[in-house]
Amino acid sequence: MPIADLLAALADGSVTVVDLTQPLSETTPVLILPEPFANTPHLSRERLSKYDDAGPAWAWDVLTFGEHTGTHLDAPIHWITGQGGEDVASIAPARLVGPLRVVDKTAETAADPGYLLTAQDLQDHEAEHGPIEPGTWVVFRTGWGSRASDEAAFLNAGEQGPVTPGPDVEASRWLAEHPNIVGFGVETVGIDAGAAGGFDPGFPVHNFLLGAGRYGLTQLANADRLPATGALIVVAPLKLVDGTGSPARVLAFVPST
Ligand code: MN
Repeated sequence: MPIADLLAALADGSVTVVDLTQPLSETTPVLILPEPFANTPHLSRERLSKYDDAGPAWAWDVLTFGEHTGTHLDAPIHWITGQGGEDVASIAPARLVGPLRVVDKTAETAADPGYLLTAQDLQDHEAEHGPIEPGTWVVFRTGWGSRASDEAAFLNAGEQGPVTPGPDVEASRWLAEHPNIVGFGVETVGIDAGAAGGFDPGFPVHNFLLGAGRYGLTQLANADRLPATGALIVVAPLKLVDGTGSPARVLAFVPST
């Protein structure tokens, strides 16, 4: 009975649960787009009551935040190439649980914060670790998550715009055309590289991946605790009707080594 086996493995520590989610608060970094584009607000909250006259025995707040805030999922309808595709609520739950592959370019990103993942990198990963299985989520590990508590370092925007790692055009197409890849996750603020607005096409991961009905996942934490292969990911966005994206709790089941 596979569920009993998994529960036993969790109980004896041979499988651990790794939280891939960054904390969500007023200080969570958000994307900044140049003029004339609209920007998403930081999370804010308004108190309804806190054990006071407005609610003597209870505390609760009202949240304000963009769909694309913190660790979050991009649904196909987020991008113009995916319009007519799935909103967040329409995603089949089985698509949100699957094998996890991790492509580690931490050293390359330390040397070059604008490192561009290539199709060759992805082909090399498959050659080393075996073919990517159906239903897989691919995570691009860069070490960027260590910057997540410092918005300036996390966005890393200078005179030439944001400098953050991401796939190049060919890698973006490779991800979107791979028959077994369901989603692509990153540690940065968006699924495209900081420089990707100037690529052809612009923002190619958004363009190709969401256009192909796949999903994006951003601002992941603890990617350094993931093996290249052999883990299971659980992606849990809000079931938001007509949602173009949603903050998500993202967990990985990881075998102990
Ligand atoms: Mn997004």
